[in-house]
Amino acid sequence: MVKGNVSLQKKLDSACNSILDQVGRGHVADYIPALARIDIKKFGASILTIEGEKASYGDAQESFSIQSISKVFSLTLVLSKIGDELWKRVNHEPSGNSFNSIVQLEMEKGIPRNPFINAGALVLCDILLNGRSTEACLSSILDLFHKVANDETIQIDEEVASSELKTAHRNLSLANFMKSCKNIHHTVQEVLDVYCHQCSIAMNCEQMSRSLLFLSKEGLDPLTNNRIITQEMARRINSIMMLCGHYDASGDFAYRVGLPGKSGVGGGIVVVVPEVGVITVWSPGLNKNGNSLAGSAALEAIARTLNWNIL
Ligand code: GLU
Repeated sequence: MVKGNVSLQKKLDSACNSILDQVGRGHVADYIPALARIDIKKFGASILTIEGEKASYGDAQESFSIQSISKVFSLTLVLSKIGDELWKRVNHEPSGNSFNSIVQLEMEKGIPRNPFINAGALVLCDILLNGRSTEACLSSILDLFHKVANDETIQIDEEVASSELKTAHRNLSLANFMKSCKNIHHTVQEVLDVYCHQCSIAMNCEQMSRSLLFLSKEGLDPLTNNRIITQEMARRINSIMMLCGHYDASGDFAYRVGLPGKSGVGGGIVVVVPEVGVITVWSPGLNKNGNSLAGSAALEAIARTLNWNIL
């Protein structure tokens, strides 16, 4: 049962109101044509606690393209399937480079720095394919979303997916390079197909907060008592979010917000507050590192107002 909490709502309102001058600043992810059309003035935020208390602000019920936030879900699936075997094909170090950098991948012989940069996420898709069709693979990814969000309405935005596939030149290069290093086992086209569709899943802030609630309770969904992933794996996912969740601005994000999180170029950012809950923000204007500008400012203000910090 999800309940409203007046004091939580007031604190969220006051934190969000304090950063409204940031909304509309930055640039939308126009390298994906379907995302270039999104209204930069949108701003939403949602909090859900492990007790089921909830607060929402602004456009919290409007769907956005989750983009790289999807990588947290594919990492969850891959770790449940093959566990630590993953680390033979992907590292878990911050990249210090942009999310789609080619240069580092070449120097490190086709082993991506972490599962949250594009190269790493492409390897996750390759693992998830596991000899299946792209449709079967995507349907297993969507099944996880439906399970963790307790919501069967979450779907892929096909318009965004096809727009992304048409312009995925950089991701094709990354996948081709890794294929040459034998770190991609399926065809590059199959991997790209899964990757672009997974990035194009659309959700709103409230759905996103609900979906990742299991990471705030060490892998157990606190509202249903369903175990989604082991405690150890959940801790690892949170650690990787803390160190690698925001491209080459991960250090700055940790310094400002102090919570494990993941951003996407659709303008969404989700953060996990261990033993407390999840906060999701969405605003499409991005800073130079590809993180939502108003979203980062909002999370900093929300974490401070609520005094939520892992340190
Ligand atoms: N689909 C996007 C890309 O591959 C995801 C980038 C992101 O959100 O970081 O470029």
